[in-house]
Amino acid sequence: MSAPAFDYIIIGAGTAGCLLANRLSADASKRVLLIEAGRKDDYHWIHIPVGYLHCIGNPRTDWLYNTEPDAGLNGRALRYPRGKTLGGCSSINGM
Ligand SMILES: Cc1cc2nc3c(=O)[nH]c(=O)nc-3n(C[C@H](O)[C@H](O)[C@H](O)COP(=O)(O)OP(=O)(O)OC[C@H]3O[C@@H](n4cnc5c(N)ncnc54)[C@H](O)[C@@H]3O)c2cc1C
Repeated sequence: MSAPAFDYIIIGAGTAGCLLANRLSADASKRVLLIEAGRKDDYHWIHIPVGYLHCIGNPRTDWLYNTEPDAGLNGRALRYPRGKTLGGCSSINGM
């Protein structure tokens, strides 16, 4: 069995990746593969405006990054939310 071939492979189904995939796939002669590390966006908190409070800091939807501790912040590190799901950050940014 031969491996499927694609004209375009897009890594990351966030805001930019989904838009790009949509534009490129408008040409029916092109095969487009969109790869996302996170899961589907069928998590109910993604679709409720205040739900971003449950998406940030949640491994279901967030990469769980933190900044390095910073002297200018009295040594504190800050949470740095980045979406990990279909839609990327736009799925956890409060709509
Ligand atoms: C909490 C929050 C609030 C925000 N509020 C606003 C606002 O009010 N107004 C505004 O304009 N903007 C806001 N933003 C910013 C906006 O949402 C982002 O700038 C925008 O969505 C980024 O889009 P992107 O496609 O560049 O990246 P992302 O949306 O981050 O997409 C990247 C995608 O790539 C995936 N990915 C990463 N690595 C891999 C890999 N190795 N393999 C496969 N997939 C991978 C990620 O999981 C993610 O889905 C907010 C962002 C956050 C997090």
